[in-house]
Amino acid sequence: MISSFPMGPRKHIALVAHDNRKTDLLEWAHFNRGTLSEHELYATGTTGGLVAARLDLEVHRLLSGPLGGDQQIGALIAEGKLDLLIFFWDPLEPQPHDPDVKALLRIAVLWNIPTACNRATADFLVSSPLLAGPYERQLGDAVGRIARERGGPERP
Ligand code: PGA
Repeated sequence: MISSFPMGPRKHIALVAHDNRKTDLLEWAHFNRGTLSEHELYATGTTGGLVAARLDLEVHRLLSGPLGGDQQIGALIAEGKLDLLIFFWDPLEPQPHDPDVKALLRIAVLWNIPTACNRATADFLVSSPLLAGPYERQLGDAVGRIARERGGPERP
């Protein structure tokens, strides 16, 4: 039964920002370029294009959020392929893909993914000594049991 997931020193980090939060995310990412360059970056379509151009770093770009990109990020989390989520969602305007946003936040909590939804939390995450080392991400008992009984990802 899986009860935890190992994270290597090189983290797989997902970046997502709604349109009104993209400037914030880009400024944060640019300020932390040195740290982010040590890790593997993933992002939804538009966010990924902007981050790649601004930071001049390789980013694995998924579909744009409203076209399914949030769901792709969620699927990667469920498969154990992402370690961290930086998700600057918009608290002031409804999105056409609100159900996907909720689903992504749910799956991130379920799999115990360190998640930052604002800049201060992202600052704390990126400056954590845990970021650069190995870490064993614990899963709740219920997650491990459901994975065993009904199917779940293999530990890498
Ligand atoms: P985008 O998607 O990066 O393609 O703008 C983000 C989102 O809306 O979830």
